[in-house]
Amino acid sequence: MGISDYFSGLGYFLTHLTVTPQPTSITELIRLLSRYAEWSRVSASVLNVNTPTVVQVLRDVTSYRFSLAASVSPGKGEGQEDVREERIKVLENVWSPPLIYPTPVQRAHAESGISPTESSAELFGTPWGHCGETIAFASLYKTIHMGHSIGTLALAVKPMTSFIPGTATVPVQTIETLWHLNDVVEVLRVAGAMRPMCLNCLYLMNSAGGNAEDYAVTFCAPPRRSADNCRATSESKCSGVER
Ligand SMILES: [Zn+2]
Repeated sequence: MGISDYFSGLGYFLTHLTVTPQPTSITELIRLLSRYAEWSRVSASVLNVNTPTVVQVLRDVTSYRFSLAASVSPGKGEGQEDVREERIKVLENVWSPPLIYPTPVQRAHAESGISPTESSAELFGTPWGHCGETIAFASLYKTIHMGHSIGTLALAVKPMTSFIPGTATVPVQTIETLWHLNDVVEVLRVAGAMRPMCLNCLYLMNSAGGNAEDYAVTFCAPPRRSADNCRATSESKCSGVER
């Protein structure tokens, strides 16, 4: 499968770096995803580009196969459109249901009165190829088409790599020291780092008859205290707009 950009390559590297032992629990996968967020931040700084907005993991719950991917790095630098086109090609090589234009996110924005902006597609909904899932869906497409149970989680890189306001806690550092899922999820919740699947990714999953659990939704669901800290509930995890 093609590697569309540096951050996808980094996700591919991390996925295969950890083949032995293979992470089998969601806690281990979140720790790996957290490390991916940190490596993306450090890499972006060295490369003098913005960090991808989100990193995400998609996994086959049964076989433990997984794929790490990132959204397209927004803003600084050029070539975002080329990266998206490359990702669309990768996806269309294996994905039989057609992509629709405008995308579901763009349709939703248009219907809510947000108009297209001349220079940046990122400001007008999320185009195909922007989300990390484009890569992850393509790499696990057989699993998805066979109807295996899939789990997905996306984390926003900025809150993962910044101090949680009013604390001395940086989620990517703290999570390295935690081994219990409840503790890890609590850090993600307080940091407001989880992002649910966007409409484009839901469309892709539904059109392939896939069966995905979105952990951002599961972990934010009641009755676990208040969901106030899960800022993501009404946001697209894949949006190129930093908050
Ligand atoms: Zn998406």
